[in-house]
Amino acid sequence: MKYQPVIGMEVHVELNTTSKMFCGCSAEFFGVAPNTNVCPICLGMPGTLPVINRRAVEYTIMTGLALNCTIQPHNVFARKNYFYPDLPKGYQISQYELPLCLDGYVDVDPDSSDQVKRIRVRRAHLEEDTGKLTHVNNHSLVDLNRAGVPLLEIVTEADLSSADEAYAYVSKLRQLVRYLGVSTGDMEKGAMRCEVNLSLTDPDTGEWGTKVEIKNLNSFRSVRNAIAYEIERQAQVLDSGGRIDQVTMGWDEARQVTVVQRTKEGDTGYRYFPEPDLPPLDLDPAWIESIKTSLPELPDAKIARYTQKFGLTLKEAQVLVEDRTVAEYFDQVVTAANGTEAVTPKLISNWISGELFRLLSETGAPITAVSIEPAQLVELIKLVTANTINQSAAKTVFGVMFETGRDPQAIVQELGLQQISNADQLVTIARQVIDSNPDPVTQFKSGKETVINFLVGQVMRATRGKANPKLAEQVLRKELEN
Ligand SMILES: [Zn+2]
Repeated sequence: MKYQPVIGMEVHVELNTTSKMFCGCSAEFFGVAPNTNVCPICLGMPGTLPVINRRAVEYTIMTGLALNCTIQPHNVFARKNYFYPDLPKGYQISQYELPLCLDGYVDVDPDSSDQVKRIRVRRAHLEEDTGKLTHVNNHSLVDLNRAGVPLLEIVTEADLSSADEAYAYVSKLRQLVRYLGVSTGDMEKGAMRCEVNLSLTDPDTGEWGTKVEIKNLNSFRSVRNAIAYEIERQAQVLDSGGRIDQVTMGWDEARQVTVVQRTKEGDTGYRYFPEPDLPPLDLDPAWIESIKTSLPELPDAKIARYTQKFGLTLKEAQVLVEDRTVAEYFDQVVTAANGTEAVTPKLISNWISGELFRLLSETGAPITAVSIEPAQLVELIKLVTANTINQSAAKTVFGVMFETGRDPQAIVQELGLQQISNADQLVTIARQVIDSNPDPVTQFKSGKETVINFLVGQVMRATRGKANPKLAEQVLRKELEN
C-alpha cells in the first residue's frame, strides 16, 4: 500500500476495586439490578463531596510501572465538563495537565517473530466512569451503577501502523492488567474499551493526513476489523481524489463498516479546570517504591527467563506466559523437579501445553482447579524418561491423574502399564507379527522402508501398547533379517 497508516490508541480499563472512585458504593455493575449501587455522591447530588479511592491510585501506579511510565508524585484532578444523560454531575472527574503516569512504552510482537515493536505510551490517568444508557424502542434507560467506577485511561503516541499491531497491543494490555490483578480486562463485559485515531500519510510528502477517530470498540475482533476497514476506506477516498473529514466514527458490528457519528470537537469543548472539591494528590515516593518492589514478575521478564535460562523457544514461552496462572503452574513444576536432569523444563512445557491444555479445553476447567500436584507431574515425566512406561501409556496415566489426582506410580501398577523393555519378551511377539503379515513383510524386504512402522504398530497392538517402540523396531529388524 502506498499510504502508511498512522494509528494511536486510547484504552479505558475498568479497575476492579471493591468500591467506586469517590464514594463507598460497590464498584460491581455487570449483571447487577439497575441503580442499586448508587449514593448521593455518585448520583451527583448538590452538597456532596468526593473522597479519593486509595486502592484505585495504587492500581494506577502498578499499571503505570508495568507500562514503564514515570509516576508523577504531584497530581491534580480536573473537571471535564460536558452534558450527557449518563453523567449525573454534568462533569466527569478526570486528570488533565497532571496525569499519574507519563512517558512509558509497551513492546509488542504481532507475529511472534522476536521482532518487537515499541509502542510509546504518552500518559495513563485515573478518572471515573459514566453510567450506561440502554435504548429500548423510543425510550432511553439509564443505569448509574457504573457511574463513578474507577477508570484508567491509557493513551499511546501514534506509533501503531497496522490492524495486527493494534490487536497485539490491546492483547498485551489485557495480559498486563490481568497479571497485575487490577482489572478483569474482559472486553465483552465492558472492562476494557478502545478508541482508535487513524490517518494515512501522504505518499509524496510523508505528512500525516486528517485524523479520524473510531470509538467504542468492544472486542478484540472489532479493533482489528474496524482498523483494517478504515485504512481501506481512507485509501479509496484518497485514490479517487477525495478528502478525509475530521470526524468521530463508530463501528457497525452487524454490517462490518465504520459509520460517522459526529464531527469532532477539540479539548476546548470540555472547559477543563482543576477539581475544586479535591486537594492536589501528593504521593509519598516511598509508597511508589514499595509498590514497585511488590510487582509480580511480568510477561516480558518471564519470557526472557524461560527462553534464556530454560532453553524454551519463544513460541513455547509465549504459550506458557499468556496466562499468569499457567506460568505459575509451570514454575511450580520446574521447582518441584529441582534440577533433575531427566525432567527438563522443555519436557514440562510439552506436557502442560500438550496434554494438560487438551484436557482443560475438553473439560472447560481452569488450570487453578487442576488436581495434579507439581511433584506428581515430575514423577510421571521420570517414569517416561526411565523407560518404565512409554509415551502413549504416559498419556493414559496423565488422563487418570487429571481426573483423580492420584499418584502416577499407583496408576501404572493398577493398569499394568509397565513397558516391556526386555528384548526376549518381544521376540516371540515379533515373530508372530512377521508370520501373520506376509504381504507387508514382502514389501519391506523389497525395499519399502516405511512398512516397518506398520509392523511396529502391530507389535504395540499385540502388547496393548506396553512395548518399548524403539526396542520393538530393533527386534523386528533383526528378526526380518533372519
Ligand atoms: Zn456512590
